[in-house]
Parts: sequence; structure tokens; C-alpha cells
Amino acid sequence: MKANFQKAKQIEKTISAMYPNAGIQLNHTTPFELLVATILSAQCTDKRVNEITARLFPKYNTPEKLATLGEEGLIPLIRDCGLFNNKSKNIIQTSKILVSEYNSQVPKTREELENLPGVGRKTCNVILANAFDIPAFPVDTHVFRVAHRLALSDGNTPEKVEEDLCNLFEPEKWIKLHHQMIIHGRTLCKARKPLCTNCDLRDPCKYYLEQKEKKKLTKTY
Ligand code: SF4
Repeated sequence: MKANFQKAKQIEKTISAMYPNAGIQLNHTTPFELLVATILSAQCTDKRVNEITARLFPKYNTPEKLATLGEEGLIPLIRDCGLFNNKSKNIIQTSKILVSEYNSQVPKTREELENLPGVGRKTCNVILANAFDIPAFPVDTHVFRVAHRLALSDGNTPEKVEEDLCNLFEPEKWIKLHHQMIIHGRTLCKARKPLCTNCDLRDPCKYYLEQKEKKKLTKTY
């Protein structure tokens, strides 16, 4: 059964106390740098992306500079983040579009962002939330898993989970909460072996209660 508003509020209060300083882990100083870092982060760790952008951004941190570099020029600089051919193509095409259609600025609307190459719903939400402080709830693999374990959603797709989370929490909570769920998924609520004994969310956690029941049954038989 999915969590109700009261339970969601309890979860939000607890996770906020656990991770009061949660924030974005991708280093950036402008919306464009964040856009590039987020495109690079697909199937790659934030740590690796930060290593790559530390090399890249001192020389290439505007749409003009990256557009001039071109796909072939960018590939060697991002090769260690995986999917580099596609990422290079998307970053260069996006840079060219920003130069020609947006005066080299990153647009602030969902419709415009999602029309850029390499920008899907999650990336768009990351940019809206973290570059422009516009309420959005990006759902990555950690948010998806934590939402399911805490019964905040039973959705089968990131879009459905996002919808459930947005319905359960007030818009002013979305950005912080998504950072808190990501850090929780990385540090305690890990995919394979969640560290439940160290977690303050055991009480409202559906997954934890189910595991406890299973253990009881195993002991009985
Ligand atoms: S109790 Fe375990 S499964 Fe539940 S949220 Fe905490 S770490 Fe995740």
C-alpha cells in the first residue's frame, strides 16, 4: 500500500534530519556547465564527471567554445565517461542550438529544454531545479529505488514515480528532497544490501518491514 500524506510527511521530516545539507554533487558555476555535466552523467558517476569537467571547463565552458571544438574535438576530452560518441554529438548539437537560437543562454522552460539534443525529462528536471530553482523532482535510479522501498510510489516508470512524489509533497520540498533521496540511496539504501540497521527510516519503511516478516517466517519453519 502506498504511503499517505501523513506518512510522507514523517518520511520527509526524518530524511531531512538525516541529510540537512544534501545538494547537487556535479560541480558547475553556470546553467550551461550544469547542462553539460548532466548530459555527461548518464551511466557515469558524479565523481568521474567532476574529474572530466575539471579538465574541460577551464577552456571550454560556453556554447560558443564547445561548438567550435566540434564532436571529434570533444570526444578525447570526455572519453572516460562512457557513451562518449553520443554524448559528444548531443553536447555539440545543443551548444550550436543555444548559440543560434537562445543567444547562448540555457532556456528556462521544460518545452525548450526537452527539445535540446541529449535532454530528456530527468536532465530537464535537474536543470530546472538546480540551475533555476524551479520546483522539479528528477527521478534517477536512487530516487526510484528509495521511493519504492518507502512505499512513496509503486510506479513502474520514472515518470509515474515523479508524478506520485509530486502529488505527495509540496513543490517547495521537491528539490531538497530529491537530493536527500539520492544521497540516501548512495550511502545507506544501497541497491544490493541496504544498511537498514543504520537507517532512521526503518519505522515507516515498507521494504524493512517486509524483510523483518520474511525473517520471522524463516525462523518459524
Ligand atoms: S530501512 Fe533500509 S530499505 Fe528502508 S529506507 Fe532505510 S536503508 Fe532503505
